[in-house]
Amino acid sequence: MLKATQKEDGTWVLNGVKRFITNGDSDIHLVLARSEEGTRDGRGLSMFIYDKRNGGVNVRRIENKMGIKGSPTCELVYKDAPAELCGSRRMGLIKYVMALMNGARLGIAAQSVGVSELAYREALAYAKDRRQFGKPIIEFPAVAEMIAVMKAKLDASRSLLYECARYVDMYKILDDISHERALTSEEKQERKHYNRLADALTPMAKGLGSEYCNQNAYDCIQVHGGSGFMKDYACERIYRDARITSIYEGTTQLQVVAAIRHVTTGTYKALIDTYAAEEVRPELADIKERLAVLTGMYTAAVEHVEASDNQAYKDFMARRLVEMAGNIVMGYLLMLDANRNESFTASANVYINLAAAEVTRHSEFINTFDPAQLSYYMAH
Ligand SMILES: Cc1cc2nc3c(=O)[nH]c(=O)nc-3n(C[C@H](O)[C@H](O)[C@H](O)COP(=O)(O)OP(=O)(O)OC[C@H]3O[C@@H](n4cnc5c(N)ncnc54)[C@H](O)[C@@H]3O)c2cc1C
Repeated sequence: MLKATQKEDGTWVLNGVKRFITNGDSDIHLVLARSEEGTRDGRGLSMFIYDKRNGGVNVRRIENKMGIKGSPTCELVYKDAPAELCGSRRMGLIKYVMALMNGARLGIAAQSVGVSELAYREALAYAKDRRQFGKPIIEFPAVAEMIAVMKAKLDASRSLLYECARYVDMYKILDDISHERALTSEEKQERKHYNRLADALTPMAKGLGSEYCNQNAYDCIQVHGGSGFMKDYACERIYRDARITSIYEGTTQLQVVAAIRHVTTGTYKALIDTYAAEEVRPELADIKERLAVLTGMYTAAVEHVEASDNQAYKDFMARRLVEMAGNIVMGYLLMLDANRNESFTASANVYINLAAAEVTRHSEFINTFDPAQLSYYMAH
């Protein structure tokens, strides 16, 4: 909805509206606008820098949101707002925003882990404190299970976040070095390798981490029972704040769109194979064996879906395949965490049960699904 027009003197002005802009009243806007008359797709968009001191932008409204109320989300109106072209024309979305987006998605993955951690802590504290039938509710297996699963999801999403951040660090360091001197061909290969892994794990960490964050927020309220529905406890706010994580910087469905090519090109499988090649303590051998079985189910499911030439069917199955890969990757990461430090052993054992149930469920769905049934899902 934002148009950039170049004036005769070569300078640019912006006109139109931007919705849902976090911190929209900031001094500097890095903003995407349609600069190429008559275009409709992403290739007609350029990036601009707007400086508030030049005027021309009004905050028409601050959105009344469900959560993250400490973060102002603005609707902005640009009226002949002077702006400077950033970089090259037409590269705004396809190059610059794509580059910014991966960093932002990693940020939301971290935000998800933070909210998940708080949800877990609040639930744990309440479950130890609240007594029913003469004992703390954490002593009931049904409550203990919720708490253990919350912890396993929290630890799994944190491990994935750190693994992803490590890959980002690796390729960025090599990128920095390349500005000082030419990289050797080995280093160039290494940079490409880590860049690819970062690209593969970012949508996975954001997509699955934000969904776990929402699930933990839900369970946090459940552990609180009726009190959880009241505004008296932090869990009510956590539940509302968690909800945005699977929406902004690309919904979970869009993370799947970004991740699926790493299913089909084998990035995830290659990564899984490197984890599987690691030696672990004998106590973890059972987890390792189970993960190898799940990997077999995943590989078979990928082959099954890929054998089809029906694109709608492939898109329909994409989320399941990405989740299967994610469950296995997180299972291995927790196993390796437990191998290094025993404090992760409980989460690794709880998570493998969860991962096995999820991967089996998806495998069963994919194997028994007749593509002709797609018409029932698409008919409205
Ligand atoms: C609080 C808040 C702050 C925000 N801050 C900013 C900001 O600072 N800057 C900024 O630029 N944006 C910001 N946004 C916008 C945000 O990134 C988008 O709202 C979000 O990416 C979803 O896009 P959309 O709202 O257009 O939903 P839509 O794209 O309309 O999505 C609607 C539904 O359709 C699905 N869908 C859409 N396309 C596809 C597809 N190709 N494949 C599968 N499913 C699909 C989605 O998953 C979703 O379920 C903010 C939004 C909110 C709510």
